[in-house]
Amino acid sequence: MNLQYAPTICPYCGCGCGIYLVLKDGRIVGEEPWKEHPVNEGTNCPKGKNAYKFLYSEDRLQKPLIRKNGTLKEASWEEALSLVAEKLKGVPPESFGAIASGKGTNEDSYVLQKFVRVIMGTNSIEYCARFCHSASVAGLLPTVGSGVMETSQLDIEQADCILIAGVNIKETFPMIARKVLRAKRKGATVIVIDPRRTVTVSYLGDLHLQLQAGTDVALINGMMSAILAEGLENKEFIEKRTAGFDEFRAAVSATSPEQAADITGVAAEKIREAAIAYAKAEKGCILYDEGVTQHTTGADNVTALADLALLTGHIGKPGTGVNPMRGQINGEGTGDMGCLNVFYPGFKRVGQESAEFFQNAWGVENLPTEPGLTYMDILHKCRVIYLVGTNPVMAAPDSTNVERALDNLDFFVVQDIFLTETAKHADVVLPAACWVEREGIHAWVDRRVQKINKVIDPPGEAMPDWWIICRVAEKMGYKDKFNYASAAEIFEEIRSCVPQYKGITYERLEKKAGGIHWPCPSEDHPGTPTMFVQAFGTPDKLGHFQAVEYKPPAESPDADYPHILSTGRSLFHYHTGTMTRRTDTLNSEVSEAYVEINPEDALMLGVESGRRITLETRRGRIEATAKVTERVPQGTVFVPFHFSESCANILTNPALDPKCKMPEFKVCAVKEEV
Ligand code: SF4
Repeated sequence: MNLQYAPTICPYCGCGCGIYLVLKDGRIVGEEPWKEHPVNEGTNCPKGKNAYKFLYSEDRLQKPLIRKNGTLKEASWEEALSLVAEKLKGVPPESFGAIASGKGTNEDSYVLQKFVRVIMGTNSIEYCARFCHSASVAGLLPTVGSGVMETSQLDIEQADCILIAGVNIKETFPMIARKVLRAKRKGATVIVIDPRRTVTVSYLGDLHLQLQAGTDVALINGMMSAILAEGLENKEFIEKRTAGFDEFRAAVSATSPEQAADITGVAAEKIREAAIAYAKAEKGCILYDEGVTQHTTGADNVTALADLALLTGHIGKPGTGVNPMRGQINGEGTGDMGCLNVFYPGFKRVGQESAEFFQNAWGVENLPTEPGLTYMDILHKCRVIYLVGTNPVMAAPDSTNVERALDNLDFFVVQDIFLTETAKHADVVLPAACWVEREGIHAWVDRRVQKINKVIDPPGEAMPDWWIICRVAEKMGYKDKFNYASAAEIFEEIRSCVPQYKGITYERLEKKAGGIHWPCPSEDHPGTPTMFVQAFGTPDKLGHFQAVEYKPPAESPDADYPHILSTGRSLFHYHTGTMTRRTDTLNSEVSEAYVEINPEDALMLGVESGRRITLETRRGRIEATAKVTERVPQGTVFVPFHFSESCANILTNPALDPKCKMPEFKVCAVKEEV
């Protein structure tokens, strides 16, 4: 048999594992792990082992669609592009917003944000980071100066104490879980902070701090107070590399472990034990994700973790740091490219100076200098939305209201690979190429920049996202500013105006398995696996303590809705299920939504595993199948958000963190019925 092997990177999760696609007669027929790839070293998780199958789904979009008399009908590219261009011309900047994709390439995202700023005249461009790590940016920028993962995932195994907060890494970052396991085998202590007893707790945890959902600040303050009481703060580090310690000490000492225990439900002795283990470690590493960030106090939760790392000096060395774990394959890169309302590419904050910089770089005038709208405001306040490769009808909170808002738009254009729950509301749907159907780069969870090459042709008339946006720009009279012949040309422009990427080239990435960590300032620079080795990213290069106070979640259980609902992910599915639910092997592992419910609550309700139950919150109702398990504590139920027929986000609370506009996905009040 004549087989070819094409190396590439898995399209799921932030780890960025290498895989070989096996091709026969130009069609992918299988895959194998990439043995020499440093992230996965010859193994892949179930998603990675079945990564290519969604590409050949029969319902891939192959032609543009235009809504006519209420129905989406196939159309030519010429007709669809002309209609989009005509509808976008003259839309006032305050009425327009765009949503980029955390799965697209850097080149796609860069071109989209340039389109929004140059042609539409607004900074109203956002992407899914608003829903996962806007709290990291808000919490880490003032404390350490950058909201990115600080260590290479490969160096985690050097840590001798690992604090895993609000992330079920065994299921959501399986290759990073392997690094934690290796550290544990070398003697590291693993502390897991999570309201659920997840597989991460049972597989990796030495100490489980099973806090009441939404009480993270109280728990971390209790730990820091214990460290101070024991005199275990890193005095030399605090003296040399930080500011604001005295005020911080006075504020944080007010929360004793006993007071923290009253709020969190975690015993004071366990809080002390965890604090002492982390403080005494040679290298302490904090890994956290949406369990920390998706709260109305998400930014404060992250700030508290940053304070903890500064207090102990566990930062600025390989295998340490306060590490946000972005789950989408380009969750980092899309932000790097300026797809947030307050940042131009390269995290240049929106304002006069950044506008002038990009006016020079792009040869344009009058770029916007005011922050644009955030994700939820784009959905609810704009009249015209351009959305690329993302599915807010499933992913945004209170999704029934999101659907109403989309149906109310003057014009809605979607680029995607399937007719998603969101695309069904569009006026025009443009078929996109994805993953190995085009080339481009992504930045994975640890700022690891890798390149994906084109291996097969896209289906039908589908085209790369950047190509589609450029054609719309051309029809709107901006051909000269969007005249790219290839992704490579776009990347050269990115390198010229995003300093973090200056030294990274397609050629370097082709030669180096595992890619290069940004910042990489020159072509002979090896990249930067560890941040803040000599200095922090703040203006004065110091780490800044910022004491934060515990505040309860926006919605607490009451007589009408007596329990807490939390939402999250499963090992076998990815985000809103658009790709994994079209993969038979993954879908047969977990084919429907389930509700994890504690045995005592199940007994009170009279429900057993396998029975259908209804969940109701103040936003709406869904049905799903009960899974009676001690993974969740009494009074809490958990639902994964991958399943459109039981859409968890019909239930979730759209209340926002005032510091970063993060919705409170992780806590709301719920009642169950049979
Ligand atoms: Fe893919 Fe993540 Fe699994 Fe690696 S760990 S194979 S990147 S889903």
